[in-house]
Amino acid sequence: MKVLSLCLLVGVGVSSLRCQSQSSHMKETTPQQVVKTDNEWKKELSPTEYHILREKGTEIAFTGEFWNNTRDGIYYCAGCNTPLFSSETKYKSGTGWPSFWKPLNDKNIKIVKDNSLGMVREEVVCAICGGHIGHVFNDGPKPTGLRYCLNSGALHFKEVTSEK
Ligand SMILES: [Zn+2]
Repeated sequence: MKVLSLCLLVGVGVSSLRCQSQSSHMKETTPQQVVKTDNEWKKELSPTEYHILREKGTEIAFTGEFWNNTRDGIYYCAGCNTPLFSSETKYKSGTGWPSFWKPLNDKNIKIVKDNSLGMVREEVVCAICGGHIGHVFNDGPKPTGLRYCLNSGALHFKEVTSEK
């Protein structure tokens, strides 16, 4: 009996210590990463979402769901549901892809150098799941001068209706 209660005490001590260190760690870092295998992504995503997010595909201009969506709302990563862009910074770029001049939160996206197709471009990646969302260019409107050129197929849209 004595040995058993000792073990229990030690067990409790260790787990409460672990809980404490985890919670302080969470506060310092950016949101937790979502990491999945290729097979898991394949099961969860539609073929289009998988092609864009995981294979860095690009949808054909003027074919996506959101290039001319003018409703108010938030655009979420189709892979992990992280809010990435808002209709407040969406604008008509004429490119046929949904275009924004600013992300909702800089922490939720990552910019990565992309040298594919013989061009030097800056890729926009979801910071949480690493999914490919689109590219960012320097020919956007004020105040940022940036054009986040995204794929509708990498996004989910949730309409926000203003309450009056
Ligand atoms: Zn994501």
